[in-house]
Amino acid sequence: MLDSTSFRTYAHQLVDWMADYLESVEQYPVKSPAKPGEILSQLPAFPPTQSESMDQILDDFQSVVMPGITHWQHPQFYAYFQANSSFPSLLAEMLTATLGTQAMIWETSPAAAEMEIRMMDWLKELCDLPRDWAGCIQPGASEATLAAILSARERVSQFQINQHGFQGTDLKLRIYCSEQTHSSIEKAGRIAGIGSEGLAKIPVDGEYAMDPEALERQLIADKESGWIPTCVTACIGTTGSHAIDPLRKIAEICQKHGVWLHVDAAHAGSAAIVPAYREILDGLELADSYVFNPHKWMFTNFDCSAYFVKDPDALVNTFDIQPEYLRTRTQEVSNFKDWGVALGRRFRALKLWFVIRSYGVEGLQSAIRNHIEIAQQVAGWIDEHPEFERLAPTPLNLVSFRYHPQGTDDPAILNELNKRLNHSLNDTGKLYLTHTNLDGAYTLRLSIGQTNVTLQHLESAWALIQAHAKTTMFDLSE
Ligand SMILES: *Cc1c(COP(=O)(O)O)cnc(C)c1O
Repeated sequence: MLDSTSFRTYAHQLVDWMADYLESVEQYPVKSPAKPGEILSQLPAFPPTQSESMDQILDDFQSVVMPGITHWQHPQFYAYFQANSSFPSLLAEMLTATLGTQAMIWETSPAAAEMEIRMMDWLKELCDLPRDWAGCIQPGASEATLAAILSARERVSQFQINQHGFQGTDLKLRIYCSEQTHSSIEKAGRIAGIGSEGLAKIPVDGEYAMDPEALERQLIADKESGWIPTCVTACIGTTGSHAIDPLRKIAEICQKHGVWLHVDAAHAGSAAIVPAYREILDGLELADSYVFNPHKWMFTNFDCSAYFVKDPDALVNTFDIQPEYLRTRTQEVSNFKDWGVALGRRFRALKLWFVIRSYGVEGLQSAIRNHIEIAQQVAGWIDEHPEFERLAPTPLNLVSFRYHPQGTDDPAILNELNKRLNHSLNDTGKLYLTHTNLDGAYTLRLSIGQTNVTLQHLESAWALIQAHAKTTMFDLSE
């Protein structure tokens, strides 16, 4: 077993490993080439009876684990939405892990609770969010959205469902999001007992944003047929195409019909750090809750999702349960266990404090602005190329496009072509991108937000994409 002397030795060694890894991360294939089961087969079926040496464990980490890692901190990681990170964030995570503190109630670490309050204030300043809202850190946007839907459910049922469950009620609750919105809404609806059938998916316009008139028609029709409109989720920056739902219009409709409005800006929300992009949140003050993930595009290690609510009582009354063993003398301060599903909570505010102080507001702004500017340039290259096309607008840093060689217009062939192109690019190990389906078209996505991505990376990615497009076309026509 390790004592503190050998811990010190290995910890120093690991810090060197961490710095070496991040300096040389571009030498690794971005997407792990491991086959299913390949790592599992190298992990013994039974735990070791006797203590094993740390040297052995670290050797195995290199030889068994590393080949099965997809390198999210590789600058050419363009897949999904990035989960970017930074040195100050890593330093804070070391401290958080060392303290091993639980941030569930104020007494279990006053600094964690009060730091969380202050960091939520800082995020409101950074993104110009309504100053009178309150916030807390959730593990992810999925949990934040669940908290919003549960709060909305308790608001319409006047806390009856928390008390009695759905048994004995004939409440038909309905929630709403656009056809393009993230699967986390449907999942939250299922967990909240509203069910998939209680989710109405609202049609989108030509740019994949929610059609507010269609929303209002649905709300009116639902009320007439006995549904209780409970919660609308507007998405700022959908996962498929980064569509931005028209927030102000949606908010006005929700106010008119008395429906909770939750705003999911999990990825795109970081853009509001730059004043020029704050219009994406125009109308937010009319909403009830808001989530964005510093762990996606704000240089803060996963997990760190910032959830804000207009009326913290509505949230706390939904989650508050006071068993005797958690009663303390300090009920007046924020006990964040009452702000969501989890009781035990990591001290996640610390890494926000490190990141925001180390970057400074200007540093964060210039990093985000830079990503958006690079993405706009890439969008321009695609538009200028006769054989590529964008399939959705690029309001921020996600470029949705496909290869469309002249004379090849059969939708099925174009889909096959782009699918093969996607796989052949990822197989190079030089970059990693993922796809979505927009109106039946296999669409390639470049999410440009990794901490260290530069224009040069995109230049080499674009050259590779063009070269592989040609060979994929040639192979397909063979
Ligand atoms: C990533 C994402 C989510 C889910 O976020 P988690 O933090 O992984 O739960 C939800 N909505 C949108 C729009 C996203 O981009």
